[in-house]
Amino acid sequence: MRIGAIEAGGTKFVCGIGNENGTIEDRISFPTERPERVMEQVVAYFKDKGAEAIGIGTFGPIDIDPASATYGCVTTTPKPGWSGFPFLDTLKRAFPVPFGWDTDVNAAAYGEAVWGAAKGVDSCVYFTIGTGIGVGVYSEGKLVHGLVHPEGGHILPRRHPEDRYEGHCPYHGDCLEGMAAGPAIERRWGVKGSELAPDHPAWAIEAYYLGQAVTSTVLLLSPKRVIMGGGVMHQKQLLPLIRAEVSRNLNGYVSAAPLLAGIDDYIVSPGLGDNAGLCGALALGLAALEQSRG
Ligand code: ADP
Ligand code: ZN
Repeated sequence: MRIGAIEAGGTKFVCGIGNENGTIEDRISFPTERPERVMEQVVAYFKDKGAEAIGIGTFGPIDIDPASATYGCVTTTPKPGWSGFPFLDTLKRAFPVPFGWDTDVNAAAYGEAVWGAAKGVDSCVYFTIGTGIGVGVYSEGKLVHGLVHPEGGHILPRRHPEDRYEGHCPYHGDCLEGMAAGPAIERRWGVKGSELAPDHPAWAIEAYYLGQAVTSTVLLLSPKRVIMGGGVMHQKQLLPLIRAEVSRNLNGYVSAAPLLAGIDDYIVSPGLGDNAGLCGALALGLAALEQSRG
C-alpha cells in the first residue's frame, strides 16, 4: 500500500510516501513559501508516486468543518498568501484520492497512537514545543475536534515568581506559547535555547510553565499518555524536570498509578521521534482510505 503524507509546517513542508506499517519510504522537504509555489512542488512530488490516499497535518489554525465554505483552508495566519488559500481543494483537484486533513499536532497525536508512544492506549495528548506550542488531543479512540480544534498552546499559565519576561504572543502576550516556546527562551536569555547549558536556570523556568500545561491537561482531559515533542524538547534534562513539576502540582490528588510510580512511562518523548508529524499525516491518510472503503 502506498500512502502520501504531508507535514505542513510554518517554516518547512515535508512530503513523503509510506505504507500501512508507518514506514516512510521516501521524503522531500522545501521551505513554506507562498502557497502557489508550495502547491506546485507538492503536486510535482506526488505526481508519479501512485498514492492511494494522502494525509495532511498542517500548521493552523485551520477549518475542519466539512460544511464550511473555508473547509480545508488555514484560517488566520500572518504567512503571506495562506489565509483562506484553498490548500486541501487544490490537492484534491490534482489527485482524486481520499484525503485526511487535520492540524499538525492532532496528526502527531494520532501517529503516536497508531505506531508510537501511545500505541495500545485509546487516549493521548501530544505537545510540540518549537517555534510555537501546539497541543493535539486523541481521546476515546478519536481526534478531538469541537468548535474548531484544540488550541492548547495559548492557555494561560501562572507566572514564575522570578520571571520578568513579558511574553511575545501577538494575541495574548504571556500565554503558554508566549512564555515557553523556543523564541521565548531566546528573548528571555538573549541566546538560543540550544546554546544554554543543561544546568542553566532557564530550564527550571521552562519546566515550570510546561509542567503547569501538562498538569492542566491531566486534570481536564485525563489522557492515558502525554507525549512531549518539538525542537525545545531536544534538551534531555527537560523531561525529568517537567515530570517533577507535574508531580509537585498534582500533589498526589489524582490517584492513578501512571501518575505516581509510573510517571517516567506516562510523560514521554515521541515514540516516532522527529518523524511524529510525518507519520501522523501518513496515519491520517490511511484512516481516510479505510473510511472511504467503509
Ligand atoms: P518548528 O516548531 O519551527 O516546526 P522545531 O520543533 O525544530 O521547529 O522548533 C524550533 C525551535 O526549537 C526554535 O525556537 C529553536 O531555537 C528551538 N530548538 C531547536 N533545537 C533546540 C535545542 N537543542 N535546544 C533548545 N531549543 C532548541
Ligand atoms: Zn497566545
